[in-house]
Amino acid sequence: MPELPEVETIKRGLEILKNKKILHIFRSQKKFRIESSLDLQGLVGAKILRFERRARYLLINFSNKKTLILHLGMSGKITLVKKFQQLKHDHFAIEFDGGEHLIFNDPRRFGFLDLVVTKNLKNHKILVKLGVEPLSDEFNFSALREKIRSKKMNIKTAMMDNKIVVGVGNIYINESLFDSGISPLREASSLKENEIKKLVSSIKKILKKAINLGGSSISDYVTVSGDLGSFQNNFRVYGRVNKKCLRCKNLIKKITQNGRSSFYCSSCQK
Ligand SMILES: [Zn+2]
Repeated sequence: MPELPEVETIKRGLEILKNKKILHIFRSQKKFRIESSLDLQGLVGAKILRFERRARYLLINFSNKKTLILHLGMSGKITLVKKFQQLKHDHFAIEFDGGEHLIFNDPRRFGFLDLVVTKNLKNHKILVKLGVEPLSDEFNFSALREKIRSKKMNIKTAMMDNKIVVGVGNIYINESLFDSGISPLREASSLKENEIKKLVSSIKKILKKAINLGGSSISDYVTVSGDLGSFQNNFRVYGRVNKKCLRCKNLIKKITQNGRSSFYCSSCQK
């Protein structure tokens, strides 16, 4: 599933479409799981003003004061091509002046699409519920301490709660807990001040590194040019069950927490 670094990479890859005008919109008959009745055709003639990202949502602002909200779901892909030939799972394609086509393809149709008036964006029912961005200044030691001080759940599950911080998916919290030497089994409220500080800085460091490497390609994810991300080659704990810890040679363990796999070193992570 594309997480924050993957969506950020896609956003950056789309920047070349800024100020380009929409010439045509192709729409497939297949519906998403969740979808309102969208007037995508109303975007023809509009220009792209800006791309933004909120959690794992991609936001595309248009000159006609509308914003498209896109979520890639489990298997969604956005690619940029010069020539468009409709494939089976293409949901829509946008043709721009200059010849580029933006194609949204999603075989499992868990993606999400909405078109809203830009000035109402902040109050959108999904966006309004989201917590702070991990790479923003609002995600810091005192804010996190406040959020987890009475949390009885384990720290790993807590950090995947969108109300505490958004976009830190399973891969990146596994890597961040390893980096900060904190066991995923620890009760969130038991973290000491220095541990909370370390965790905040590890999350920021890991996410930035993943973005610089174009995200992690472990299943369907590709960049807009169809290339693979390469952070998966830098995993230090994720997916390394029964392999030697890169710090202490102890074997990495795998457990399930809240239905998701956790990988950790019981000697380095306390
Ligand atoms: Zn270790």
